[in-house]
This record gives sequence, C-alpha cells and structure tokens, in this order.
Amino acid sequence: MDKTLCHYHPAQPATWHCVPCQRPYGDCCIPLNADAPEETPLCPLCRGTLDFLGAANSAQPFWERIPRFFAYALQSGPLAFSALLALTSLFMPRSILLWFILFSVATKYFYSVIEACSQAEKQAPSLLSAFTGDGFGLFFKQLVVFILAFAALWLAADFDSEALYWAVTLGLLLALPASIIRLALDKTLGAALSPDQVGQVMKAMGWRYLILCAFLFILWQSPSWVTYMLSSGLPRVVLMPVAALLFGYFGVVMCAMMGYAVFQYQGALGYVIADAEDQAGFPAAEYLRRRALAEAEVRFKEGQSSQALETLRLALERDPDDLKLNERFHQLLYGLNARQRCLHHLNHYLPLAARRNPPLAATALLNARQLQADFLPADALVCETIAAALLARHKTREALSLLRNLHQRFPAYPHIPRAYLLAARGFAENLGQLEPAQQLLAFIRARYPQSPLLAEVTALEATLTRLAEQSSGA
Ligand SMILES: [Zn+2]
Ligand SMILES: [Zn+2]
Repeated sequence: MDKTLCHYHPAQPATWHCVPCQRPYGDCCIPLNADAPEETPLCPLCRGTLDFLGAANSAQPFWERIPRFFAYALQSGPLAFSALLALTSLFMPRSILLWFILFSVATKYFYSVIEACSQAEKQAPSLLSAFTGDGFGLFFKQLVVFILAFAALWLAADFDSEALYWAVTLGLLLALPASIIRLALDKTLGAALSPDQVGQVMKAMGWRYLILCAFLFILWQSPSWVTYMLSSGLPRVVLMPVAALLFGYFGVVMCAMMGYAVFQYQGALGYVIADAEDQAGFPAAEYLRRRALAEAEVRFKEGQSSQALETLRLALERDPDDLKLNERFHQLLYGLNARQRCLHHLNHYLPLAARRNPPLAATALLNARQLQADFLPADALVCETIAAALLARHKTREALSLLRNLHQRFPAYPHIPRAYLLAARGFAENLGQLEPAQQLLAFIRARYPQSPLLAEVTALEATLTRLAEQSSGA
C-alpha cells in the first residue's frame, strides 16, 4: 500500500482528508486544539469536516521497532503472565481440565496483547485481565484452527508426495499469522478460517507480510533454542519452568509484533486508529496561531492570495505582536506587490522584528527599499539595530543610509555616539573609506565629550591613523 502524503508538504504523511476538495492534509496543516479535543478539525479550504485517516500513513514500520516489542514484553503484566506459566508448569497437578483452563487463560492473554498493540496502547494488559471479562472461548476457536491445520497436513502426508506435503506445510505456516490476527480482531472462527478475510490481511501488508512471518518464525523458535542450549546442564525441574517462562515472554513479543502490524496497516485493513502519542494538541492561543499560519499557506499555495491575507489579518487582530504571523503577512504583501499596505504594515513590523530578530528586520528593510527607494524607519533605535544587521550582511550602503544624519533626524536619541561609532566602522572596515570614518569619530569627540565610548573612539582613531599612514607611505 502506498502512503498518502500531505498535499502541501510532500515530506509529511497525511492524517486528514477532505473528500469534496480531494485534499489530503498532514498534521503540518491541521493543528489540533488541546483545549477542545472533541472538536473535529475543518478543511482550511472549504470549512467542511475532515475525515480522519488515523496513523495509517504516519506509523513507523514494524521492522524498525523490533527492540520495542522486546521491551514491551518486559512490562509488569507480561512478566507476571510468564511467571505464572513458569509456576504452573512446576506445580499444577496432571489434570486435563486444569490444563485446558490454563491454555484458555494464556490464549486470552495473548490475544488481548494483539488487540492492545493494534490500538497502539503502550501499556501491556495486566495479568488480572486474563482472568476477567470474556474471550475464554478464543482458545477453543484457536484449537479448531490448529486441528484443521493438522488435518490438512495429515491428508497431505497421505498423498505420498513430498513436494505436496511441503507446499501444504509452507502454506499453513504463512497463513497462520494472518489467521491469528483475524481471530484477535474479529473473535470469530469464521473470520479466522475464511480465505477472504485471512487473505485481506496478507494483501494489506503485501510482501512485507513475509517479513512479519520471518520474524515470527525466528521468535517462535527462540524459546526452544534457548531451552535446548540450557538442557545439557540443568535438571528437568529447572528446565520446565524456564521453558514456560520463555514461551510466555516470546509469545507476548510475537503478539505485540502482530498487533503493531495491524496498527501500521490499519488503512489497508479498513481501520482508523490514532496514535495517542502523536495526537497532542496545542493550547487554544497557540492552536489559533498555527491554524492561521497553516491556512494562509494552504490558501497561498492554492493561488488564493487575498484569502490568505485575510486569514493572517484576522489572526494579527488577535495577536498583533506575533513575529511569525507578522513575517508571513509582510512576505505575502511584498510578494503581491501591495505597495501601500506593505509600507503601512512595516511601521508596525519593523520595530517588532528589530527588537526580536534583527536579521528579519534587515530583510524587511531591503524589501521596503524596493517599494520606496528612500524608505526610513521612524525610530532611531530601529534604524541603528537594522543598520548593525545590514552591516553584518555586508549591505553597507543600505546600513549607512539608515545612520546618515541621525543626530539631526532624532536629536533626542541618547545613543548617537554608539550609532556613529558603528557607522565609522562601516565606512572604514566595509568600504575602506577612512576620511568619513575619521570625521564621524571627530564629531563624537566634539559633541559628546562625556560619552563612555570615547575610549573605543580613541582606539579606532589610532587604527585609522595607522592605516592612513600605511596607504600614504605606500
Ligand atoms: Zn501540510
Ligand atoms: Zn475541503
């Protein structure tokens, strides 16, 4: 089965689907509201209710999670279950009835593991759950499956053809996991024996079903191998409980793997199961913010720029100082060449970006200059901050233009010496123009004799004098 991906983010698995719009969406586009978890999210395009795809596209493949299945069976429930098997193998009297009860409890427990894992429950069923509720009949249904399988083998052996015998054996081995999965999910003998239903499990997984079978086969053999290796040194009274314990442990690992395979292939199997781990929503404010950003992106990619702008405008009314929302709004206005609106928004956006992320502000200023060649921010600190960010980017002329005549434009600004020192560095270091740099430094010295930056001014002056001598000497 091919995975469906987000229509707008082809690296993200799809988790939602809008039937009328024919658009699959990933979690990237559909944030969830943690404060209203019962709310079904709506399509960003048509506002219709979305269909949930569950984890069908996002589930990690089972063969990448093998260690987790081993860890799963180390929880208290499975360990208690394995210990119980070990103890009973030692102490239980030889009574057919008691053995039937034991097998019935064990089968019920194994199947509850398959069921829990198919729902992506992290917690293994408790030992107590094996003794309560219904499902004790599963053992007899499973027994019927086994008896029929043996009957088939017995018949095949009668034909005196080795090839036929092995073909039937292999076929039964391959069909068994799918039949067990069917029995765990549907709990009816009919489903476990129906070639259609069993075939559906195999078809859903495709050739990866063979990987599952291979892993299960190895796991199935594991307890016998370990027991065999121990058998030379240990007495029977120790060996029996060890074998039973291993049988319980590896059985749970196998069931966890089969259950997870159902979870992974839920889409193809016709189930919708969410992964609780991945279903975390956001607090209401953050949810609204993310939804606006996602919707604006979807609208923009659909060519609905004005709706994208409207979405962001509404979100900015709620949250005027959100940097990301402002950045997107700016980019969209600039991209659409909405000159007046973009310049108007810059009055708000530039001071915000200068405060929170100067490189962003520098980009915005360069955009602004494309719209209006003599654009200047209306605040001295904003000018200084953006100039520093532009100098770092070697946009020297744009940076210096922000600092030009700062003392006349903003006579009350207390950081003129700092800004002019920055400008002097820009002239000297970025442009190699020593004269204007020296003039700026002389200006600071004359106008602001009390400035704490005078030491830096003196140091830079000394450097500039040395450089001037070198160049005139050469
Ligand atoms: Zn997306
Ligand atoms: Zn829709």
